[in-house]
Amino acid sequence: MDDKNQIFNELGVSDKVIEYGESVLAKLEKRFKAIDDIAERNQAKVLLAMRKNRVSAACFAGSTGYGYDDAGRDTLERVYADTFHTEAALVRPQITCGTHALAVALSANLKPGDELLSINGAPYDTLQEVIGIRPSPCSLAEAGVTYAQVELNSIGGFDFEAIKKAINEKTALVAIQRSKGYSMRPSFSVDQIGEAIAFVKKIKPGLVVMVDNCYGEFTELEEPSDVGADMTVGSLIKNPGGGLAPSGGYICGTSECVERCGYRLSAPGLGREVGANFGIIDRLYQGFFLAPTVTAAAEKGAIFAAELYEPLGFKCVPGASEKRHDIIQSIELGSEEAMLAFCKGIQEAAPVDAYATPLPWDMPGYDSKVIMAAGAFVQGSSIELSADGPIREPYAVYFQGGLTWAHAKLGILLSLQHMVSGGLAKL
Ligand SMILES: *Cc1c(COP(=O)(O)O)cnc(C)c1O
Repeated sequence: MDDKNQIFNELGVSDKVIEYGESVLAKLEKRFKAIDDIAERNQAKVLLAMRKNRVSAACFAGSTGYGYDDAGRDTLERVYADTFHTEAALVRPQITCGTHALAVALSANLKPGDELLSINGAPYDTLQEVIGIRPSPCSLAEAGVTYAQVELNSIGGFDFEAIKKAINEKTALVAIQRSKGYSMRPSFSVDQIGEAIAFVKKIKPGLVVMVDNCYGEFTELEEPSDVGADMTVGSLIKNPGGGLAPSGGYICGTSECVERCGYRLSAPGLGREVGANFGIIDRLYQGFFLAPTVTAAAEKGAIFAAELYEPLGFKCVPGASEKRHDIIQSIELGSEEAMLAFCKGIQEAAPVDAYATPLPWDMPGYDSKVIMAAGAFVQGSSIELSADGPIREPYAVYFQGGLTWAHAKLGILLSLQHMVSGGLAKL
């Protein structure tokens, strides 16, 4: 037995899969270098924001109760605002997830009689209830906010003609989703998003533009907030939490929009003044500090997965050699059985719950059964190595995360091992 492979064999990866993996990796040096370059500059950006705001040990003090005058919380919000180059930021553990952050941003900035316009077709699954596309108590529809959407054009880009037609006197907020979510379209680059923002604002200058930035943070040198987004919104258990944030969400944007979000999140009159940090604020700081390199590790994993699976006949979005703008890699596996095998491999590579077998289940907010593989330190964290997908055509898994590149690599190799052992992929 090859000594070098022994530890990998013990984890369950065969020599054949290891060798195939190494042959794929041999071609990726240049692309990985480009990712490291972006990470370096984003690291500098975060560092600059921390230095400018004089982050000190005093910022890590816990707070309880109302959380009045929580300097650590307020400074963290300044660090986010300066990193995203916005006037203000709302960064709170009380924001329970990405959907919650988006719901706060939307409901705080839409009034009865306003229309919300999505210009990238249907928004992310869980937002459909927030908007009221699928009826739900407390949806925007219930509050008298109407909704319209413009489908993407045939090549997955913005349909500018149709967008122009859809903007009317009621249109108050335009939503753009950077990452593809559970669809097979490409994700948008910050440049593309900037072009769309400029276009809609030219038609109607008073429009508020919100970008769902989930999974996109730190994959490029710029964020949507650098190209005109009034609100840039995401989850702390994805990229910007760096794997350390135990919970939370953020909204970076104009003072006016972010103020309103504060009132929506707590209560009118109270706004951002309240909100204790429960003693977890140090993890939000440290996670944000690590986020650029953690995101880079996850991105390398995504590229490796595409390069590994595409030659075996599985359609990948983005394609193996395509440019990417988030950390999500979708792979069309073609059957439920293959989704189960893939997810089993990812689960086996987890530091937590490696013994568990992921099975499809009904999840709140999703309209079909979903399978999820995740053995994460933070429950449900998808900046940690994870794979998930709805059990429906085209049986695509969405693979993401990996706090270290070494871990992402192992997880992907184990997924392939299960596919190969189950006769679902052939080397
Ligand atoms: C994850 C995600 C969300 C929702 O985030 P949750 O934290 O799961 O609620 C919204 N939009 C996109 C594009 C996402 O990837």
